[in-house]
Amino acid sequence: MTTVEEHRAVVASLLAPMPAEEVALYDARGRVLAADVVAATALPSFDNSAMDGYAVRAAEVAGAPVALPVAFDIPAGRTDVPPLPEGAVARIMTGAPVPEGADAIVPVEQTDGGTEVVALKAAAEVGTYVRRAGEDVAAGDVVLAAGTVLGPAQIGVAAATGHARVPVRRRPVVLVLSTGSELVAPGAPLQHGQIYESNGPMLAAAVEDAGARAQLLRFVPDDVEQFLAVLAERAVGVDLVLTSGGVSAGAYEVVKDALAGRGVTFDKVAMQPGGPQGAGRLDGGVPVVTLPGNPVSSLVSFEVFVRPVLRAALGHPHPERPVVVARLAQRLTSPSGRRQFRRGVLDAREGTVAEIGGPPSHLLGSLAKADCLFVVPEDVTELVAGSEVAVWLLDG
Ligand code: AMP
Ligand code: MG
Repeated sequence: MTTVEEHRAVVASLLAPMPAEEVALYDARGRVLAADVVAATALPSFDNSAMDGYAVRAAEVAGAPVALPVAFDIPAGRTDVPPLPEGAVARIMTGAPVPEGADAIVPVEQTDGGTEVVALKAAAEVGTYVRRAGEDVAAGDVVLAAGTVLGPAQIGVAAATGHARVPVRRRPVVLVLSTGSELVAPGAPLQHGQIYESNGPMLAAAVEDAGARAQLLRFVPDDVEQFLAVLAERAVGVDLVLTSGGVSAGAYEVVKDALAGRGVTFDKVAMQPGGPQGAGRLDGGVPVVTLPGNPVSSLVSFEVFVRPVLRAALGHPHPERPVVVARLAQRLTSPSGRRQFRRGVLDAREGTVAEIGGPPSHLLGSLAKADCLFVVPEDVTELVAGSEVAVWLLDG
């Protein structure tokens, strides 16, 4: 039997880091920077006022209260600000450039708000309410390092330092393909013996959630010729083909029958759920990962083998799910020689995790209520309540 780590290594070898592409800032949310972003301008880029008020020479208002003539107005955006004449002040708005000669701002609240002559009720020290050029970011600084995930604040600083576009890693394109003659599209009538197809939309969502792009092809029947014809037509120009179903030990295992001997290797991995796995390059070309068909096996296998590899290819600094240690809420048993990924609900305040649904791999309703997976190692056959387990946070 293959270990989890061995199969992870096989899948990891299929995807290289994605090349860089430039995208508009609008399209950059959640993307990973492929290169450092360097500030084209300083932040602030000029000395400006932190308040609505009056630009003054601190020395001239030291004896406040004092009345001084207002030489001119400086609204935000004024680009032709003259020097401040001696013995006068300028009315200035937040974000407007501080005139040459001024060294402090007196807020409007500490004045009578005059427009010709203003009464200043309080003195100001040099530098008061002046935002200094470059005090946040100097021109030429690396504001965002390669590998940064772009969220709102990161997109904000890229824009503020003059970048309309940023270099990010291209999102891998993943063709999602389910197999099974029993499958029917959700919404269509169902005959006895048929089931609604769920792995396709589920895995496509998981692919997108990992940051890659899914092409959802839905399902093909258990027919080798049809399966291969679909692959020949659609597995072109994609970075990965992700199938589900048709890889276990029975008859009519369409994926196994079609791909064995064509560059894809099928193994039994020492884990539960998700024992039967396959991976390789179809005829030496496009990478293929074949997940088992049971919905819980499919999604857990995606979590263990595919998601970290997609995220690593995207350049994520943390390709893995966050892992915490929690105490088990109840006793459980587990087969020897299998790493179990059981579905749980974490109580983060108490530091406990409770199993939901039990081990069987068809319990999709329970999976949908879980917020974590917890791991029972291969050599552990029993855990008493209160035992510490590693918990993978699925919504982190
Ligand atoms: P298989 O590995 O193809 O034998 O499938 C194992 C189990 O998973 C069977 O009960 C299938 O009906 C079910 N299954 C396979 N593919 C899907 C799918 N795309 N959606 C829902 N259930 C599936
Ligand atoms: Mg099947």
